[in-house]
Amino acid sequence: MKSIAFIGLGVMGQPMAGHLVRAGHFVKGFDVSADAVSTFVRAGGHAASSVSDAVKGADIVFTMLPAARQAFEVYEGDGGIFSAADSGQILVDSSTLGVPPVQRLHEEAKRRGLNFLDVPVTGASPAAVKGTLVFIAGGDRKFVDEIEPVLLNMGSKCVYAGAAGSGQAIKICNNMAAGVIKTAICEAFTLVEKLGIDPKTFFEVASQGSAQSFALNVLCPYPGIVDNAPSSHGYRGGFATRLMLKDMMLACEAAKLHGASVPVTEMATKMFEACADHGYGDLDNAVLLKYLLETSPPGPENPEQPS
Ligand code: NAD
Repeated sequence: MKSIAFIGLGVMGQPMAGHLVRAGHFVKGFDVSADAVSTFVRAGGHAASSVSDAVKGADIVFTMLPAARQAFEVYEGDGGIFSAADSGQILVDSSTLGVPPVQRLHEEAKRRGLNFLDVPVTGASPAAVKGTLVFIAGGDRKFVDEIEPVLLNMGSKCVYAGAAGSGQAIKICNNMAAGVIKTAICEAFTLVEKLGIDPKTFFEVASQGSAQSFALNVLCPYPGIVDNAPSSHGYRGGFATRLMLKDMMLACEAAKLHGASVPVTEMATKMFEACADHGYGDLDNAVLLKYLLETSPPGPENPEQPS
């Protein structure tokens, strides 16, 4: 059993850290939200008073933070992980930060003689709750092998992606595709609604047909069809639109930097941006369907806007 620090106890971090507790590890959690720490303590975790308090004595330090800004603060800031850690520990970021930010963290860790890995996850919040996430590891393989049993307490698989930053590279390519598919499924339901078709009948057909996908079958954006999907719970929890937008922008930036043509991803990014600007940034990204219904113009066959 390991001593583990877990920093960032949000939608993903909370259930992930909970699995580590249930697997018998000693887990100290820290989050800027006192409520998140209290929830973790109720689940059997231990509260850390600061980042450095969490890191002290840990074999492995996990971070699960929104984006690069928060990760730089937590790793490089005063009292951050880099100043508190030592070479006997393994530092693992599982957030989605993009390739250049994790390369900066890899380089700074190396300069200080510390062991850092980028190990983002795919599978979304239902997989975090079930413990079936897929981890995508970038960095020194020796350390990936060492932490794999602990990763498998939270997930079903760990894929070694390669050198520093490779985990993030695969993650953003995965998410750009997931984001584009999500926009397509939301657009299909928008037309379903306008055509006056029963959404449940559409789901019955499409989820077994050629539109079947994680975005439809597991995270169906139409409320009341898939019980566990965030759409059936007021679009709360899940994967926030602001985070989907961040991932799409990371993919667009990488595409620009490396000269890849991604016109549909660019269009989908604009859609998530408009949805966030509409006030839906903190809701699960399937709320794009609600945004599309609210902003669709009336057609000659449907002169009334849907309520
Ligand atoms: P979230 O916003 O629910 O959780 C992030 C947590 O970090 C929050 O509890 C926040 O209070 C905490 N935090 C922010 N700044 C902090 C700081 N300086 N110190 C300590 N804690 C801090 O986000 P999430 O949905 O859990 O996602 C986390 C990461 O995982 C993101 O990078 C996201 O893109 C990625 N991800 C999310 C999903 C998903 O379905 N939600 C799936 C795969 C990957």
